[in-house]
Amino acid sequence: MQTALADSIRHTPQGIEADAVLRTCVHCGMCNATCPTYQLLGDELDGPRGRIYLIKQMLEGADVTRHTLTHLDRCLTCRNCETTCPSGVQYHKLLDIGRDLAEQRIERSWLDRFTRWTLRAIIPYPARFTPLLRLGQLFRPLLPSFLKRSVPPRQIAAPWPTTVHARTMLVLEGCAQPAISPNINAAAARVLDRLGIRLVAASGAGCCGAASHHTSGKEQGLGFARRNIDAWWPHIESGAEAIVMTASGCGVHVKEYGHLLKNDPAYAAKARRASDLTKDISEILMNEDLSKLVSGAKPGPKVAFHCPCSLQHGQKLNGVVEKILREAGFTLTAVPDAHLCCGSAGTYSILHKNLSQQLLRNKVTALESGRPGTIVTANIGCLAHIQSGTALPVKHWIEILDDCSSAGRE
Ligand code: SF4
Ligand code: SF4
Repeated sequence: MQTALADSIRHTPQGIEADAVLRTCVHCGMCNATCPTYQLLGDELDGPRGRIYLIKQMLEGADVTRHTLTHLDRCLTCRNCETTCPSGVQYHKLLDIGRDLAEQRIERSWLDRFTRWTLRAIIPYPARFTPLLRLGQLFRPLLPSFLKRSVPPRQIAAPWPTTVHARTMLVLEGCAQPAISPNINAAAARVLDRLGIRLVAASGAGCCGAASHHTSGKEQGLGFARRNIDAWWPHIESGAEAIVMTASGCGVHVKEYGHLLKNDPAYAAKARRASDLTKDISEILMNEDLSKLVSGAKPGPKVAFHCPCSLQHGQKLNGVVEKILREAGFTLTAVPDAHLCCGSAGTYSILHKNLSQQLLRNKVTALESGRPGTIVTANIGCLAHIQSGTALPVKHWIEILDDCSSAGRE
């Protein structure tokens, strides 16, 4: 695609990056075919090609209206379009720049600003998020059903192993996950313990910064990234093999630290190293001898796996979890349209409730169609969102692998 960026932006780091992305797009529109918002709304400007065009116009100096911001906001950042695109367009990088520019030129409504501020003030801080969740859980029996579905019941974690092994890996605790589903990281630690790997949560690390990054709080998000790098660095220097992610939404963001901090001289090299070491838990297991783990295991009933967008489109790890679960003896049911987003998409389920609920209904219908006994996924946001739309139990896949390999040892 030919471009003629405005002089004011052409030579800035953002302008150079945006220009490079725009020039790879041939405007063929193939990406529209797999875009969830285009499928729901049928508007060219709610598909990737239209959004790319809006951003191009903005960069070339055209007027920006509130509609521009609305169409960019409606994007789930699911990156399905990147998987489909034959030209390798790095759409998410362009979208980031486009949203920044649109926000600089158009003021959001006070309600939108207040909602985003509230999300940024609560979600990344476990000391604020956890008490609010516990309050909701306390009054859960009294809540009307539509609210009750959004408040997951309290979960108790299985014990975290204490054996010291020669091999050590770090794990990100994150922000909301320890409050909603503390068993996920405990299950990962127990599975890795059986493989001779000690999993350690570095004190001082916390939210990955994605929630802030996607709610107009880029500087706050970068602050969390620097804090996490500082917390991990002594462990990295002591030989930690990897930084393990059990939430694919965090994983896709931490893998971008190197890119996000590339212009920060104090952190650029460390951020690159942290991103290189970051692995989804499935990437760790696919390189280990799982026969030690699953021999004698007795898998439960059929499961349906929802592969989060952040895992299949963001990290390009489609099929990895499925292979691990099949090797462990699980039967996976067929899930139609498995490439489509469930509608969780970080804070999208709060900021764009109607679209999110439509996607949730479609996803739950698809997941339940093979009559599974359990639904599993790989991201806490998807887990909580899907659980709000189904009566089936929804878990992280590492939990059922932990259950199954524990049972095999009893
Ligand atoms: S992003 Fe890719 S698929 Fe979409 S219009 Fe551009 S080149 Fe075509
Ligand atoms: S990221 Fe997802 S919602 Fe956004 S344009 Fe691409 S496919 Fe559509």
